[in-house]
Amino acid sequence: PARLQELAQAFTVLPNENKASDARREELIDKPAFGQLFSDSMAHMSWTKGEGWSDRRIEPYAPLKLDPGASVLHYAQEVFEGLKAYHHADGSVWLFRPDANAERLQNSARRLYLPEVSIDDFLGSVAALTMQDVKWVPTRREYTLYLRPFIFASEPFLGVRAPEEVEYCVIASPSGPYFPGEIKPVSIWVENKYFRTGPGGTGYAKCGGNYAASLLGEYRGIEQGCEQVCFVDAATQTYLEELGGMNMMVVHKDGHVETPSLTGSILPGITRRSIIQLLQDDGHDVVETMIALDQLLEDIKSGEVTEVFACGTAAIVTPIGRFKSETFDIEVNGGKPGELTMAIRNQLLGIQLGEIEDPHNWMWKV
Ligand code: PMP
Repeated sequence: PARLQELAQAFTVLPNENKASDARREELIDKPAFGQLFSDSMAHMSWTKGEGWSDRRIEPYAPLKLDPGASVLHYAQEVFEGLKAYHHADGSVWLFRPDANAERLQNSARRLYLPEVSIDDFLGSVAALTMQDVKWVPTRREYTLYLRPFIFASEPFLGVRAPEEVEYCVIASPSGPYFPGEIKPVSIWVENKYFRTGPGGTGYAKCGGNYAASLLGEYRGIEQGCEQVCFVDAATQTYLEELGGMNMMVVHKDGHVETPSLTGSILPGITRRSIIQLLQDDGHDVVETMIALDQLLEDIKSGEVTEVFACGTAAIVTPIGRFKSETFDIEVNGGKPGELTMAIRNQLLGIQLGEIEDPHNWMWKV
C-alpha cells in the first residue's frame, strides 16, 4: 500500500486554475453516465526516441494539442487500459489489481510497436491522479472513478514506422453502476461476418483499432434488437471468443465452468482471471478451452449449460439471457440471471468495495 504513494511522487502536480467548485463537482458525480464526465486533472508524460519517458506531471484536464499529421490519427498506434478507483465505507480509496493492468498495457504496447510504460510509472500515474482528484471518487455504493490510461504516437510524420514521439496520459471519469437497479440479462448477437481480429492479429492487445473494427458487427446486432455482440474465431467461425468489451463464461449443470482459452485473439481480462481464481477457491472446476458455438447452443437447449455470463471491469458480471444470429434465437436460463452468476458477481463486487475479505490481496490502497 505504501508503494503507490511513493511511486506517485514521481509525478509533479502543476497548478490548476480550472477546478470545478465543490458544489458543481458534487452535483456532477451524483448521476454520472459512463465516460461522459471527466475529473479536474490528468496524468501525463512524454517519450522521445532519444530520451525515453520524461516530464511526469499531473496537469489540468484539457484538450490536447496535436499536430494533424500525428501518426496516431493516421495509423492508429494507440493502446489503452481501464480500471476503477473504489471508495470504501471508511473513506479510503482503493484500486483493483492495478499491477495486472500495468502488465497488460506493456503487452499491448509491444504488439503495436509503441514504447512500454514501466510498471512503476503506470502505478505512480494512476495513484497520483487518483490522489489529486480523490474528491471525484464517488461515495455512493457501486459508483467508481473509472481510470483510463492510454499511449499514442504523437509525432507529425506520415510514414509508417516505429514512433519517435509518444504521449502517455491518464484521465478519470466518475461512473455509476453499469446497470442501475436490477440486474438484467443482456441479449447477444453472434456475429459471423465482420470480425474484430484474426489469428496473428491484435486481439490480445487493448488497442483502439480493435474497438473500431468491432463496431460494424456490434451495430448489426443492435439492428436485430441485441444489446451486445459476441465474436467467433475468424479462421474457422466455429468457436466463441468474447464480447465487444467483455469475456465470457459458461456454467454447466454439474457446476464446472468453461471459458474460451486465450488463443491470441481474445483480450486477457483481469476480471476473467480473477473470477477463475475465485471459482477455483470455491471448489469449482474451471476449464479454459475452445467453446464451439454449435455445441453451446445444443447444451443450452438440453439443459447441460445452465448459465452464461459476461465479465469485465465496467459491468463486473453480466448475465447473458439470449443468443441470436441470422440462423438461431435461443434463451439461456429462461432469460433470468443464474445463481452462480449472481454469487460470483456479489463476491467480486464485495471484495472491490471492501465489504468482504480480499483473500488474494488484490486491492491496493491509494
Ligand atoms: N474483452 C474486451 C474486448 C475488453 O475490452 C474488455 C475490457 N477491458 C474485457 C474483455 C474485460 O477485461 P477486464 O476484465 O480486464 O476489464
